[in-house]
Amino acid sequence: MTSVATAISLIPRSQPGTGRASASSCSPDLAKGPWEFDAAEALAGVPAYGPGASSGDRAPSSTPRQGQLPQEYRDATEAELHERIVAAKGKLGERVVVLGHFYQRDEVVQHADFVGDSFQLANAALTRPDAEAIVFCGVHFMAETADILSRRDQAVILPNLAAGCSMADMADISSVEQAWAQLEELFGTEPDAEGRVPVIPVTYMNSSAALKGFCGEHGGIVCTSSNAAAVLEWAFARAQRVLFFPDQHLGRNTAKAMGVPLEQMPMWSPRKPLGGNDAETLLDSRVILWHGFCSVHKRFTVAQIEQARAEYPGVRVIVHPECPMEVVDAADEYGSTDYIRKAIAAATEPTVFAIGTEVNLVNRLAAEYPQHTVFCLDPVICPCSTMYRIHPGYLAWVLEGLVDGEVRNRIEVPEDVAPHARVALERMLAARP
Ligand code: SF4
Repeated sequence: MTSVATAISLIPRSQPGTGRASASSCSPDLAKGPWEFDAAEALAGVPAYGPGASSGDRAPSSTPRQGQLPQEYRDATEAELHERIVAAKGKLGERVVVLGHFYQRDEVVQHADFVGDSFQLANAALTRPDAEAIVFCGVHFMAETADILSRRDQAVILPNLAAGCSMADMADISSVEQAWAQLEELFGTEPDAEGRVPVIPVTYMNSSAALKGFCGEHGGIVCTSSNAAAVLEWAFARAQRVLFFPDQHLGRNTAKAMGVPLEQMPMWSPRKPLGGNDAETLLDSRVILWHGFCSVHKRFTVAQIEQARAEYPGVRVIVHPECPMEVVDAADEYGSTDYIRKAIAAATEPTVFAIGTEVNLVNRLAAEYPQHTVFCLDPVICPCSTMYRIHPGYLAWVLEGLVDGEVRNRIEVPEDVAPHARVALERMLAARP
């Protein structure tokens, strides 16, 4: 069996008809076991996202630290880990449910009971009420959402605590509270003649539980990349404007498609007074965009689309709305991971698809639909380096812990946050078209 390290360094670009692997990857360091970064973090005293797509971003100091994975899991071969995971899952039976995000590596996803996006997975966990433990092979905010939606006595486990999300970390609760105080001072809190309050907070699912709680407490709501337009409509019916965090691109792309002019979408830079804007601009705004982005999706460019069109005339280009606006504008279509998956599944004729989203998902779709040609727009292969911190070694470690009666790496949203965050999530469900 191919070792995990080798598989990572050779994640192939599914080039039509060639099966060739890309000659380049984000960083040769990606081939190392993730535990090497746990150790490096312990030595440096600061958490990091690891090399690759998120290498330019710094993890906040509040990021949870992962302790060193026991040696036996670091030394085990991929085949040994596979057997141990299968055996532990077999012993646990219905007592555990394993969730695997679309962007997760294949060696982990193959053990998942459900595969999907973050919200699909949190809901999938609800279909297994007998499970004592929900092992979420995704990133930190996803495990938090599962904890908010699951029963209090169910333990949600994140196999590697260092699996964060650089985008989610770009908006922290204290920066959002400071921004909110400035906006309230500028706009006041009185509704207009139509009963609309001056501003409503909207947070993308890819955010901490604290921000979801903030939205719940302040009349706001959560959105996903599938329902962002419906959620913005819900917000515009209740407010004159929206403060949208943390992903500027999802906010801009969605509001632009709804007809909001770009000049009414100022950017909020958290470290500047009024977010770096003048009062007049903010008073005229409809959507105030937080200065956040996904390090994976910001890699996609218009030049890559032009190259794909030149190489494969008739190619269908579909990108994720976390991509920059110019890229979304240049694509044929854009939509969530679920939209992309369904679009490929629904194509009745052999089609060439150039996809702008995380490469693990793209390669899985390429394998799943061999009648089509499916490839990632980015020729320099970059998986989500934070999600990537979940290695089969960590999965084996948490599952064997459960077999021994020990819950490792439990993610618990504080009692004073969870109810408010649940309110914001429930508003989203009610706002669904
Ligand atoms: S792909 Fe981007 S938004 Fe998604 S988990 Fe990774 S860093 Fe976060």
